[in-house]
Amino acid sequence: MRHRIRTLAKLETILELSDAERAALGQGGDLLPLGITPYYMSLLDPADPQQPLRRTMVPVHQEFLRTPGEADDPLGEDEHTPVPGIVHRYPDRVLFLVHDHCASYCRYCTRSRVVGQGELQPDRARLSLGLEYIRNTPQIRDVLLSGGDPLTLSDDKLDWLLGELRSIPHVQFVRIGTMVPVVMPQRITPALVKMLHKHHPLWLSIHFTHPDECTPEVVRACRRLSDAGIPLGSQTVLLKGVNDSVPVMRDLLHRQLMMRVRPYYLYQCDPISGSAHFRTTVQAGLDLMRGLRGHTTGYALPTYVIDAPGGGGKIPLLPESVLGRDGDSLLLRSYTGKVHRYPDPQPGRGVARCESA
Ligand code: SF4
Repeated sequence: MRHRIRTLAKLETILELSDAERAALGQGGDLLPLGITPYYMSLLDPADPQQPLRRTMVPVHQEFLRTPGEADDPLGEDEHTPVPGIVHRYPDRVLFLVHDHCASYCRYCTRSRVVGQGELQPDRARLSLGLEYIRNTPQIRDVLLSGGDPLTLSDDKLDWLLGELRSIPHVQFVRIGTMVPVVMPQRITPALVKMLHKHHPLWLSIHFTHPDECTPEVVRACRRLSDAGIPLGSQTVLLKGVNDSVPVMRDLLHRQLMMRVRPYYLYQCDPISGSAHFRTTVQAGLDLMRGLRGHTTGYALPTYVIDAPGGGGKIPLLPESVLGRDGDSLLLRSYTGKVHRYPDPQPGRGVARCESA
């Protein structure tokens, strides 16, 4: 963590920067921070700015463009925050943002308004407020720890937090959402795994993006976690030019199964501010799923979902949930029956207006 690449000056000693990358890093301003672990940096192509892994970590000037339908908080998480760091959108489960640090910062992050800002600190006073909310809300049976990345906490802090959650009788199930096994697999030490093992039932959702991430180091990290009895699922964001082809996605899904990671969700990229260069059309995602279904084992198939703008929750892209279109918006029905709009401009129609932030 101490040796992460965090500045333009450091980055250009390693990569030949393109004009788009240099322009983004030179602007500064409201950009999501730069942060890449030395291990993940070793996977980036120093000469090719279009390499998929490099695109997910190195900013380009398109991050400063705002297109219609985008927002800093498209999922409306801030409206469902009863105490700092708790997002309570569904009746029986909460998202607990333990802090806002990640080992590496993904350029398309849904929580780019929060991560790396240093506002959500993992001190016991703040975490205790979240624990108190969960303790006083008996309908919560499922807690997802996220952030930021919970596995960047110290073993001791995480052990304390998991112990506190396990002591709440109505919390049946704890999950950790993490990218650490992918961007810093060396963090999955025997000591960490031994500590996690004490807190079963505990599940891990690992953020994977591309088959090039499935290195021997990541295979070893996943094996350690699986051998400790921790069920592993994966979450992948569908990204234009990164993983939006059948051969690339199928390769990723197959490699995950070989690591005992069950593909869980394939997310349509959220319309966060400055994400147009990453978002595919929904039709491209449906075509991708059609190209996978039947051509590979059912265990390899994730559920393709849109996290509905405005806090509607995850909506699987099934005939009964997709109601149709209204211009450049896709109309979706959530589990509550409410209708939500996802900005989904069609190819050839162009974007109505595009402005620099
Ligand atoms: S690891 Fe997750 S929370 Fe952190 S920057 Fe990436 S997507 Fe965002």
